[in-house]
Amino acid sequence: MAGTLYLCATPIGNLEDMTLRAIRVLREVDMIAAEDTRNSIKLLNHFEIKTTMTSYHEFNKIEKGHYLVEQLTQGRNIALITDAGTPGISDPGEELVRMALDAGITVTSLPGACAAVTALILSGKPTRRFCFEAFLPTDKKERRRVLEELKTETRTTVLYEAPHRLVRTLTELLEELGDRELTIVRELTKKHETIFRTTIAEALGYYAQQEPKGECVLVLAGVDEGLLQEQEQENWKAMPLGEHMEHYLSQGMTQKDAMKAVAADRGVSKREIYAQLLDDKEK
Ligand code: SAM
Repeated sequence: MAGTLYLCATPIGNLEDMTLRAIRVLREVDMIAAEDTRNSIKLLNHFEIKTTMTSYHEFNKIEKGHYLVEQLTQGRNIALITDAGTPGISDPGEELVRMALDAGITVTSLPGACAAVTALILSGKPTRRFCFEAFLPTDKKERRRVLEELKTETRTTVLYEAPHRLVRTLTELLEELGDRELTIVRELTKKHETIFRTTIAEALGYYAQQEPKGECVLVLAGVDEGLLQEQEQENWKAMPLGEHMEHYLSQGMTQKDAMKAVAADRGVSKREIYAQLLDDKEK
């Protein structure tokens, strides 16, 4: 019988966040695949876990992934842990899960700490709808695309960032999105955990005096939906009415439906559009 792949969350700073189930499973499995074995040995020693470890990281994830899936197929139980937090969230776990599922292996998760969700709930920003952008892409074109999308994102957005890149990212966010409310959550679960409720511009002013230190999560307010709608209506209103109608007529809409769509875009009544079209015709 094939073994099971256990995705084990580990603490993001405070060792007391290790779950009882994670300790038991890490002791019981045949092998632990760890992102950085030198880092994880401290955790394993602390909890007196003596299971054999093997490395599984960004640079060996394909080759090692095949090896781990083979071991699972032969009946070994394997636990995956990453440097901190939940495997698969901004670390190489995702790939191994896909490979294991493709091979018909049972995969299960042992939930625990995750910096994104912990920061979100501490941010004071709306939590009902949110999006997670992880680290902004390093590729320039891709990064621009994501920033472009964030301009109209109405949900709270959670971003990861390393301290040495924080100022650059804040500068780009300010340039692309304008000033927005932002919560910077630092050193989660650790002694110096801080929740800095600020704006992008204010944070940049702060970090001009103070070097960013410690791991952090950025929780960015979404754009106000009313404001976004107003902006969109202004954009449509800047377009000549005839051109706006043509936009829908060229898609095969009837005159009546096009008028309805134009009225909705401009935030006015259909009657108003009709009157204006008549007016334009008479001129
Ligand atoms: N898998 C992890 C998780 O579940 O949160 C995330 C791994 S990702 C490589 C590391 C990033 O998570 C850091 O750059 C930082 O943005 C965030 N992070 C991790 N631990 C944190 C902590 N204690 N406080 C604040 N942010 C943290």
